[in-house]
Amino acid sequence: MLRKIFDYYLIQSNCYSNLEFLSTKIESRLSGSPGAEKAVSWAKKALYEAGADTVYLQPCMVPHWVRGKKETCTVNNIQNKKISFNVCALGNSISTNPDGITAKVIEVKSFEELDSLGEKNIKGKIVFFNVYFDHKHLTTGTCYGEKVTFRYSGPSKAAKYGALASIVRSMSSINNDFPHTGVMGYDTSICKTKIPACAISYSGADELLKELKLNKELKLTLKMSCVMLEKVLSYNVVGEIKGHTKPNEIILAGGHLDAWDNGQGAHDDGAGVVQGIEVLAMFKKLNIAPHHTIRAVAFMNEENGLEGARAYFEDTKKNNLKHIAALESDAGGFSPRGISVDTTMGAFKKTLEWKQLLNPYFVQYIEKEGSGADVSPLRKIGVPIIGFQPDGQRYFDYHHTADDTFDKINKRELDLSAGVIGSLIYLIDHKGW
Ligand SMILES: [Zn+2]
Repeated sequence: MLRKIFDYYLIQSNCYSNLEFLSTKIESRLSGSPGAEKAVSWAKKALYEAGADTVYLQPCMVPHWVRGKKETCTVNNIQNKKISFNVCALGNSISTNPDGITAKVIEVKSFEELDSLGEKNIKGKIVFFNVYFDHKHLTTGTCYGEKVTFRYSGPSKAAKYGALASIVRSMSSINNDFPHTGVMGYDTSICKTKIPACAISYSGADELLKELKLNKELKLTLKMSCVMLEKVLSYNVVGEIKGHTKPNEIILAGGHLDAWDNGQGAHDDGAGVVQGIEVLAMFKKLNIAPHHTIRAVAFMNEENGLEGARAYFEDTKKNNLKHIAALESDAGGFSPRGISVDTTMGAFKKTLEWKQLLNPYFVQYIEKEGSGADVSPLRKIGVPIIGFQPDGQRYFDYHHTADDTFDKINKRELDLSAGVIGSLIYLIDHKGW
């Protein structure tokens, strides 16, 4: 049966053409944007085309943050030559004033160093968090998880000591000139003052460091015009095929529909969305009547608020919906590698029994770990959550950059991973756990 499922995915899957449309025909789809609204309509149509018998739009109020004009970041070097760096505002950041902020730059390599420098050295300056991925880790997700706190929490920690702005080295695996955006949050329990926050490209950070070494008095001018507008009504898109023996028990597969505005969100997370949709198409095209209700969900607002995840969780509780499993694919459209299962029930052991079946399709490991941010709340009510894990070695080359575009997707890799997701959903539906 799994071989038949893979025949479908390798020959007939719509993942690639769906992803091409979502990535290239709809403008950027950050929450609250016109692109996000179009993506919602597209997902609804794609779910019906895949064979959903019902499609719901599940409402949620989402933040509407807009980048505005392209950010600028410049210094005058020791020969008084103007040098520009590629930077991008972090999601949810406030703007600078229209003339920008001009101030001395101070390099900080850790929060301990920030604390020891204190107000005496930080006040009135722009803090440059010069942090790198620790490449000793086998997975890039671990490298990212370890350092992303400087992007998210760095600004408020720097503001506490009187910094005027915060610049973080991009959360990047490689050295190039693409700045990586991503969410930041103001923690008013640390500091009431909000300061502008941006990321600088990896090569830009190296260049800035070089200039700083030559001139300790180096002044930097940063201009950002981003703004947080009023919240906007948006939606999760939920499509399902009703189960024929246990219609009240749901198996969910999905990803998030919103994506950062600077790229096409092909890997993050257009891939997860089309793989979820394709689960329904596979059941339909192979004429398999599922026992349980199979749901594909395109979540809204994963990137800068998780309002879609919250709305889904609340709806599940309110309507007392029973989920057998909830899988999220949110780690790029690369080749299959593994599956993580987070559950208090016997589901993990059962999944381990299927390892041999999935192994020919490049599933090397099944581990007891968490999943994506959209399905994670369901764990609180005992739902086994599953993370699909593709090969992540190139993910943070593109993640949250203008380089996360459809041309970085390999059709076979995308389909093989979709095949693993479809197979796993089939196994859960037919063998149960
Ligand atoms: Zn994502």
